[in-house]
Amino acid sequence: MIRYGSQQIDEDDIAAVVEVLRGDWLTQGPAVERFEQDLAARCEARHAVAFTSGTAALHAAAAAAGLGPGDRVATSPLTFSASAACAKYVGATPTLVDIDPATLNLRVDAVPDGLDALVAVHYAGLPIDLSGLAHRPRVVIEDAAHALGARTPDGPVGNCARSDMACFSFHPVKPITTGEGGAVTTNDGALAEALRRFRNHGTVPTPAQGGWAYEVRSLGLNYRLPDIQAALGSSQLRKLEGWIIRRNDLASRYRSLLSELPVVLPPAAPEGHLHGYHLFAVQVPERRRIFDGLRAAGIGVQVHYVPIHHHPLYADLGFEPDDLPAVERVYAGLLSLPLHPGLSDADQDRVVAELARLLVP
Ligand SMILES: *Cc1c(COP(=O)(O)O)cnc(C)c1O
Repeated sequence: MIRYGSQQIDEDDIAAVVEVLRGDWLTQGPAVERFEQDLAARCEARHAVAFTSGTAALHAAAAAAGLGPGDRVATSPLTFSASAACAKYVGATPTLVDIDPATLNLRVDAVPDGLDALVAVHYAGLPIDLSGLAHRPRVVIEDAAHALGARTPDGPVGNCARSDMACFSFHPVKPITTGEGGAVTTNDGALAEALRRFRNHGTVPTPAQGGWAYEVRSLGLNYRLPDIQAALGSSQLRKLEGWIIRRNDLASRYRSLLSELPVVLPPAAPEGHLHGYHLFAVQVPERRRIFDGLRAAGIGVQVHYVPIHHHPLYADLGFEPDDLPAVERVYAGLLSLPLHPGLSDADQDRVVAELARLLVP
């Protein structure tokens, strides 16, 4: 099976993990601190706080921002459910803003006034342009799970030039992996402290009361990334640049190989931007037949995503198909073709050949 996404693990990644295993610190310790410094430097952000997953990172960001009951939090309908669930975790109410078919990102010009927060998703790794935001809510959180390594004229995604926090995922299909893992970057010291407290049971050390003493100030969780995984993260991060270049090369190759076929190609990055190409999502006619045909041929295509409001959990948001016409239209044909730094030109040629066979019998 040619997978749609895959981790790249080299001997130096293995050595980095083994080194932690031979030491005496397994859970959150010096390797997490190093990984956070490496990530903050890579993103040109003041702070990075590591978590056990991208979902945990989004949950922590919503909590650290003080979102709660009564708050309305908008996100894209074309995203993984965690982008909306993070609002629900803290008792806030998610809502949706339709996508722009030209970028597949949420329409920033259609963000209504009066929202409390926006979870801005960089779909497929194409940075959402927050400079065009019609109304800036109190809190802007980037869901940058697809976009580590991508850039805008403002700098690298994660520098929070136009947001309060940016959340990353290190699941194996994402730009770098720690097995499971995530992180939040921010330039705000108070938010960084709230994030660190949230991942560690809401505790704060109180040394004046004794070396052992601490207080639980707020409700938190155990969202601590182990050192074993953080060491993998630092090792992976060193290779990110090359992987993004390879992803962009494969994307250009797809564009030329697919140019004669009846498919809608994904939006390219505008001038001055670097696309992260986490996904290469085309739109095809008869998606179900094409999907099944490719899977039967050993091509691990996937669909990103079933729109948020199609899930029963979000039925109460009250969105009818006519309310979000752009995402309905795009979703009907959406299909993610295999794209990861380990994909060979030969495998990519086979993906295109099988797709062509199904589209033009
Ligand atoms: C992967 C992903 C997440 C969740 O990350 P996990 O590490 O799997 O919890 C959130 N949002 C988007 C857009 C994602 O792709």
